[in-house]
This record gives sequence, C-alpha cells and structure tokens, in this order.
Amino acid sequence: MSERELRERMVQHGKSIYDRGLTAGSSGNLSVRLPDGMLITPTNSCLGQLDADEIARLDPLGNLISGKPPSKEVFLHLAYYRSRPQEQALVHLHSTWSVAVSCLNDIDPANALPPITAYFVMRVGALPLVPYFAPGDLDLAEAVERAVKAARAALLANHGPIVGGADLDSAVFAMEELEETAKLYMMLRGLPTKFLNDQQVQELQQRFGN
Ligand code: ZN
Repeated sequence: MSERELRERMVQHGKSIYDRGLTAGSSGNLSVRLPDGMLITPTNSCLGQLDADEIARLDPLGNLISGKPPSKEVFLHLAYYRSRPQEQALVHLHSTWSVAVSCLNDIDPANALPPITAYFVMRVGALPLVPYFAPGDLDLAEAVERAVKAARAALLANHGPIVGGADLDSAVFAMEELEETAKLYMMLRGLPTKFLNDQQVQELQQRFGN
C-alpha cells in the first residue's frame, strides 16, 4: 500500500471508530509503521474528522517530518514498535467497556480478560495489564515496552487498551474484538459462566497462534 493509501485508510478507520462511539472527543490515536518512520494521528485531533494531509509523519526516533504535531501519546507507539518489530500498526482507544475492565480490582494482571470466545483468543490473545501512570509520565513507555514483549495487546489501567497488528485493518479488527469481549465480560460478571477451558485455548493457540 502506498503512503497515500495508508493515510486514507487511517482516515476511514478513524471515522468508523468515532462514528460507532468506540472513542470520544479527541481521545484515541492510530499509527502505521513506515520503512523510515511512522504515520500517526495529530495531537488534539478527533478520529472522526481526520485529514489525510495533516497526519503526522515522523522519523524512526519520533521527530516530526511533516504534517501536524503528533498525538501526545506518541511515546506509547514508539515503545510498542520497539518491542514488537513484527507489527506494522497500532490502535489506542479510550473505549468504554475496555476502560471499565481496566478499573476492576480483581483482574489478573497477566491476562485481564478470560477466554470468553475463540475469536478473542485468536485475534487478541493474552492481555497484560499495565499499571496506572498519569498522562505524560514517560515511565509508561517502559512499562508498555515490557508488557507487550509476549503479547500484541495490552490494557493500560484506568486508561484504555492498545492493540497492534500486521496492518491497520487487523489492528482495528482486533481492537473491536477486544472491546466487544470487554462488554461481554462486564455483562457476565456475577452470572455463573463457562469460559473456554485450558485445552480449548491451547488448541486455538496451536492452530492460530499469534
Ligand atoms: Zn490514552
């Protein structure tokens, strides 16, 4: 895909995410890795109203080459890509159901959501919880870099999810799967529930491992 097509894809996905209420106001950011840097949504931009020409283009160290200044959360994206060279795109949202799960005090920090459906296991996999850091605290970058070494997604406590993928489509689709699973989990809390068992999860990992 050309850089122009990637920019247009970011605009389309941003609008789709915003229109469905998966992130509000100017929250949330998308990035795509390029051979010599990355494209990332600008600071204070609404995902529903992105302009392909204003998307920030950065060099590999995060310096602005063209476009508007990048999201203030760009350091999350740089940390993620450092840790996961196999991923080419990253989505970060403040999506309501995932944020709700990130605030619970009884979740497993190694895997914040149980295996409710096969598609969650296949598209998202493990979901480590990253401890809470105040906005702008750069220690968050180090914590993210550590958390995603063995997972393509992570949940930032009292903040929101990050999900990467081999391209922007797969990162966005995995994010949607995560948000729907978080919603299901909150609906099921307090009800007698059967999750996938260890053997079922292992079979999925062997067949579709990510
Ligand atoms: Zn955020």
